[in-house]
Amino acid sequence: MRKLFLALTTLFTVILFTSCGETKKQEPATQNTQKELIEENVVESILTAEEQAEMTPQEIIGRLKKGNENFMNNNLTQRDHSAQRRKAMIGQFPKAIVLSCVDSRVPVEDVFDLGIGDIFVARVAGNIENEDIVGSMEFATAVAGSKLVIVMGHTACGAVKSTIDKVDAEALGMRSLANLMDEIEPAVVETALEGERSSKNTTFTNSVITNNAMRTVKNIREASPTMAKMEDEGKIMIISAVYDMESGEVKFNND
Ligand SMILES: [Zn+2]
Repeated sequence: MRKLFLALTTLFTVILFTSCGETKKQEPATQNTQKELIEENVVESILTAEEQAEMTPQEIIGRLKKGNENFMNNNLTQRDHSAQRRKAMIGQFPKAIVLSCVDSRVPVEDVFDLGIGDIFVARVAGNIENEDIVGSMEFATAVAGSKLVIVMGHTACGAVKSTIDKVDAEALGMRSLANLMDEIEPAVVETALEGERSSKNTTFTNSVITNNAMRTVKNIREASPTMAKMEDEGKIMIISAVYDMESGEVKFNND
């Protein structure tokens, strides 16, 4: 009986150690599988002319919304930038051009989970248009084939807030900044809202930010008959949006 007990104990010990050994052996294999999965999901390609041609402006909006969801969920696509850089040398076929404020807290590509070759980005404080910006947009759409123009304002925009508060930039020696704020001023004037007309009034400020982006869209259409015609023909869309810095969400104003 004692011998049997000893034999069973030895057997169990052997089984136990063998299973432990197997578990330990499996660990690196599981890690490798996870690494391979991550590597498999790394994007190495860039947009091709065919892919750009196939997309409609509406489809691009849908893709940007999905990308923005990834950004909000902290789930950005992994990209092999070295591989993408090499492929991008052949040419570029971006799907959209985004006009954003210069604000360092608005990382445009990340906000839409995009990378090399995906979008053109134009940036100027307060996301207003001027001849150079419109010229860049004409190149992006009529020459390079992008189907969507987005004017993207953002919450807590310093340029808009300073304009609302009538900061006298010229008196502070910044004539160019004063001129830029003059471009935002009409959006402040046009915003009809009860309550205090100061940047402390967040509701009012957010309305001005939305109106400023919408106004820029209107100005772009007026400044570029070529893009206005392309939009009438359904080839491109020119829309405005506002990026919420707190939630990371981009709200499109045509929703
Ligand atoms: Zn801003």
